[in-house]
Amino acid sequence: MNEDSTKTDLKNLTQEQLVQYVESLGQPAFRGRQILAWIYRPGITDFTQMTDLAKEFRAILAKNAFMSRFQEAMIERSRDGAVKFAFRLADGLIIEAVMIPEEDRNTLCVSSQVGCAMGCTFCLTGTMGFRRNLRTAEIVNQVCAVRDWAIEHGQPPLTNIVFMGMGEPLANFDNLLDAISLLTEQRGLDFSNRRITVSTCGLVPQMRELGDRTDVNLAVSLHAANDAVRTSLMPINKRYPLTELIEACRTYRQKRRKRIMFEYTLLEGVNDTDADALQLAELLRAVPCKINLLAVNPAGDAAFRSPSSARILQFQKILRDQGYTVFIRTSRGEDISAACGQLAGQGWHPQKVTTNTAIPS
Ligand code: SF4
Repeated sequence: MNEDSTKTDLKNLTQEQLVQYVESLGQPAFRGRQILAWIYRPGITDFTQMTDLAKEFRAILAKNAFMSRFQEAMIERSRDGAVKFAFRLADGLIIEAVMIPEEDRNTLCVSSQVGCAMGCTFCLTGTMGFRRNLRTAEIVNQVCAVRDWAIEHGQPPLTNIVFMGMGEPLANFDNLLDAISLLTEQRGLDFSNRRITVSTCGLVPQMRELGDRTDVNLAVSLHAANDAVRTSLMPINKRYPLTELIEACRTYRQKRRKRIMFEYTLLEGVNDTDADALQLAELLRAVPCKINLLAVNPAGDAAFRSPSSARILQFQKILRDQGYTVFIRTSRGEDISAACGQLAGQGWHPQKVTTNTAIPS
């Protein structure tokens, strides 16, 4: 990603901030909105392309600002159609995003941090530790780069964005909110709120604030129906135990009249018994929701194993009999380490690096 520390990266600015920025350069507010629309148009990389701005103002912009973009990507395609993109950041760190095409949608799973501090024991990203938060620009540039790649390669346009890549999005709250603002702004990337999902391991105060300040969907990584098992899998449960977490989910729903998506990774012998399913049904009784069941993906040398298909189906049946909407989510991109809990910025091969305009298909 190109970067000049003396200049302002306009990709870090929301519309409101961009308006303030152009005003600081002596320009009227509408110029900020005009520039935003240019920045997020495919193929715009240079201020000279912004043809309805005065030449002198374009020169001032070029002197003081820039528009970052990912110039390198490594791409791996899964047999099942998922495509993993690894992007090298200006400081050399690697983040990943995964495009998951389906019949009726094309979802991009984006990262919000490099690594993750939450330490969930079944997650490879968690085992790599925390490096740093992504800037707003680094979040939206994942979407811009994959959008442009999809256009160049005749792929269907992106329809949905899920914050389920590397990192805990609510731990990078301010930049997440700014990125959501750019993703949903009509002059920006123009996604509808209902097509954006933020997934959290359960940072309760930020969940409440997200509900107050946005209208996006919420997914909660639950993975256990009692505090003892959940704490053993997810250290965050010590700080925000299940009663607090479920209450925050209930309140989020009431504000937005939306169903929460609960993610439940099935781990053989840990959380996959009939009793676990019944306890889960009891726990979620007060929260209109959908439940996604996932079989654990191999994460490094982690000790967890996936239950048999029969066990997964039985777990689903028990929940369905209790009146829940339950999906068994087939993991996508497992063969290229792009499935849930597998993103760790590993396997970056410099020889495959290329520019975005010539990413191999
Ligand atoms: Fe972080 Fe999510 Fe992995 Fe937990 S599951 S360590 S919150 S990336």
